[in-house]
Amino acid sequence: MDASERGRLLNKLADLIERDRLLLATMEAINGGKVFANAYLMDIGGCIKALKYCAGWADKIHGQTIPSDGDLFTYTRREPIGVCGQIIPWNFPLMMFIWKIGPALSCGNTVIVKPAEQTPLTALHMASLIKEAGFPPGVVNIVPGYGPTAGAAISSHMDIDKVAFTGSTQVGKLIKEAAGKSNLKRVTLELGGKSPCIVFADADLDIAVEFAHHGVFYHQGQCCVAASRIFVEESIYDEFVRRSVERAKKYVLGNPLNSGINQGPQIDKEQHDKILDLIESGKKEGAKLECGGGRWGNKGFFVQPTVFSNVNDEMRIAKEEIFGPVQQIMKFKSMDDVIKRANNTTYGLAAGVFTKDLDRAITMSSALQAGVVW
Ligand code: ADP
Repeated sequence: MDASERGRLLNKLADLIERDRLLLATMEAINGGKVFANAYLMDIGGCIKALKYCAGWADKIHGQTIPSDGDLFTYTRREPIGVCGQIIPWNFPLMMFIWKIGPALSCGNTVIVKPAEQTPLTALHMASLIKEAGFPPGVVNIVPGYGPTAGAAISSHMDIDKVAFTGSTQVGKLIKEAAGKSNLKRVTLELGGKSPCIVFADADLDIAVEFAHHGVFYHQGQCCVAASRIFVEESIYDEFVRRSVERAKKYVLGNPLNSGINQGPQIDKEQHDKILDLIESGKKEGAKLECGGGRWGNKGFFVQPTVFSNVNDEMRIAKEEIFGPVQQIMKFKSMDDVIKRANNTTYGLAAGVFTKDLDRAITMSSALQAGVVW
């Protein structure tokens, strides 16, 4: 298939997602407990934009000519990798699906996607849209199944040329190992996080409180980039905590399909229990529980929006990925101190900085060891 045809099909697929937006957002809410309005606006809206972006790339992928001495002509040619295995998690089922297939198809590859076992529905609906858009049979293959079986079969397969994975660090290690032991397929990994969010005293406090709040509470805290370590400069610490608690208390929990709901249930019992265990560890290790701190209601896997202050860097809640609606607020004294503490983690996915001082913003964004700095 030529490049412009690939672009046309990807654009067509984006249009079909737009047509079925209501259905897809409803599926995300029912299947994964995602708040419907967020699914509709953020997830599905983001998918449409990402696919159109990838569609535009399809006929603009080119190599370079490289000057070389003598009677030589040297150039690079971009070629498809071949068959790409793509293993995705449950927290952003459709968005992860599109982020994986969009670039791979744009570059002329074929894909085998394994959705997470908890959230296969939107991927299955996508199969029908892909057919309707007119992609040739065999270009996109969707294989629902469990990790240790369907997922492992992809990462160890001798005829799969690449595997792209988003999920836990633990499984990321297994995938790299399986790729190494089989055909040395290429691996790209997007794993966990314990991202710092740093608030300097000169920041606009209303904005910082609001963004830090959404940074950790969005989608029940189930985001790999969640701002789960908030470092606040000493002089504004108490006020920041006060406003953050007030904000968290306003969060409305309930059926994610209903309007006016901010937070739905956690994905499953395993995650729910893990979050409650980490909350208990925070209480035991001496953090100050400002609000929340337990399950919400007696039906479904809801967790109260929880805020801890007086958190120190050695506590489990400051080190481990919680993947739940739990905000840790720490105090810092100086820029050097906070850079060291923010970087003192085995993760490095994202970070955030709030300041009105541009020099400081640029210094911080270089000093923070994170893939994305907001
Ligand atoms: P999470 O903590 O988000 O559930 P996982 O890493 O367990 O993260 O799951 C992410 C994806 O990886 C899912 O699609 C899951 O089925 C898959 N998976 C789990 N175990 C394996 C494995 N051993 N090999 C390949 N894929 C796996």
